[in-house]
Amino acid sequence: MGEFKHKHSLGQNFLKDKKVLIKIIDSVDVQEDDLIIEVGPGQGALTKYLKLFHANLRCYEIDTRVKKYLDSFVDEKTQIIYDDFLNIDLKSEIKDLKYNNLYVIANLPYYITTPIIEKIINANVDVKAMVLMVQNEVADRLAAKPGSKDYGAISVLLNYYFDVNKLFVVNRSSFEPVPNVDSAVIKLAKKEEVAKVDEKELFNFVRDAFAMKRKNLRNNLKKYDLKIIETILNKYNLTLQDRAEQVSLECFIEIVNNLSK
Ligand code: SAM
Repeated sequence: MGEFKHKHSLGQNFLKDKKVLIKIIDSVDVQEDDLIIEVGPGQGALTKYLKLFHANLRCYEIDTRVKKYLDSFVDEKTQIIYDDFLNIDLKSEIKDLKYNNLYVIANLPYYITTPIIEKIINANVDVKAMVLMVQNEVADRLAAKPGSKDYGAISVLLNYYFDVNKLFVVNRSSFEPVPNVDSAVIKLAKKEEVAKVDEKELFNFVRDAFAMKRKNLRNNLKKYDLKIIETILNKYNLTLQDRAEQVSLECFIEIVNNLSK
């Protein structure tokens, strides 16, 4: 890697473990007429493997210093865009491209993991699956199930659109420079059917339910009709004394649908 000075502030820990790279591409079934978005190609460790799919590939990298490592990847199906992924208008960027399914596959810059995931979801671009390298603890939160201490608003929101699975843990020694946290690869696969509910109301309600982690539902949900909420909670063997971390996506949806009747 020679003279390159990694920028810690940009989350520049480059993958150097071939076995991990192979496991990442083996976890998803991309066809030649699909489109892959890669956030943060860096020096192209993952890009090189993504090219093996011969699919359309669009990579967004904020640091122009890596251009010399990435230039050789560019061809009629591969574009590298030097921009802040958080600043682009993803929907309009890809609206004229011809592709079948859309995938996001990336070893994310960890300082903006949640903003990137939220941006992709909010862009409304119909992603078939995302395979993302994230910090191990974050993977636990994103993939958490009700009743676990890691379960929070983000686990519920992701679970609304996707089946979320933590695939495998990646030791910090797989990166250069070695970060001070371990990582994990998660897969978010689009659900075939999404439950019927007003998404905005659901997301606001879930955020309120988790507003203060240590408080119970009665305290966090004071501004709502607690009688209606309690009736539904009881159906799921829960009460207002329980905390939001016990409440499943299905239960949240049923509550929100009843509150808006
Ligand atoms: N994909 C490479 C790999 O696996 O070795 C690099 C991954 S590294 C963890 C994250 C990359 O994201 C870095 O190359 C960094 O410069 C880039 N990055 C950081 N912030 C970004 C942003 N806002 N938009 C696009 N890329 C960004």
